[in-house]
Amino acid sequence: MVCFIGRSNVGKSSLIKALFSLAPEVEVRVSKTPGHTKKMNFFKVGKYFTLVDMPGYGYRAPEDFVDMVETYLKERKNLLRTFLLVDSVAGIQKADNIAIEMCEEFALPYVMVLTKIDKSSTGHLLKQVLEIQKFVATKTQGCFPQLFPVSAVTYSGIHLLRCFIATITGNLKTN
Ligand code: GDP
Repeated sequence: MVCFIGRSNVGKSSLIKALFSLAPEVEVRVSKTPGHTKKMNFFKVGKYFTLVDMPGYGYRAPEDFVDMVETYLKERKNLLRTFLLVDSVAGIQKADNIAIEMCEEFALPYVMVLTKIDKSSTGHLLKQVLEIQKFVATKTQGCFPQLFPVSAVTYSGIHLLRCFIATITGNLKTN
C-alpha cells in the first residue's frame, strides 16, 4: 500500500489520473470511506497494490488533516511509502511543512513529488529542485533523496514515478 498526500490544489487528483491512464490494462477500483467530508479514496490496482488518496490540506485544513490522516498514517503497518506532493511553482509552503514534520515524527519513509513542472521555465524549475534537494538533504531523515518532478499535462516524469511505485510494491517484472 502506498499513499499520496498534498495540499489542496497541488495537482494530486490529476497526477493519480495520469498514473492510471498510462496503465489501461490494470483494473482500478475506487472505494470511498463514507462519513468523511474530506474523504480518503482507495484505489485498488488489480491484485497488485492499493493507492490511498488522502484528503488535501490547506490553510484551514490542518486540524482535519491531523485528526484523520495522522491517525491513519500512524497506524498503518502495511504502508510501504508515502508520496508527498509539492507544487514546483510555489515550492515548499507552510502547509507542506506540517506534512513533512508529521512524516518525520512518525518516521515514515516518504518521497517528494514536484507537480506541475510544465508551468515554470527551466531556470525556475532548476532553482526549485536544487533548493528542495538541499532541504531534503539537510533537514529531513526519512525523505528519499531523489525527487520526482512530474507533469500531469505533458506526462513528463510519470513513467519514472510508475516504475518507482512498481519497484517498492514489488511489481516490477524483470524478465
Ligand atoms: P488536487 O486538489 O491536489 O487534487 O489538484 P487537482 O489535480 O485538482 O489540480 C488543481 C489544478 O491544477 C487544476 O486546475 C489542474 O488542472 C491543475 N494541474 C494539475 N496538475 C497539473 C500539471 O501537471 N500541470 C499544469 N499546468 N496544471 C496542473
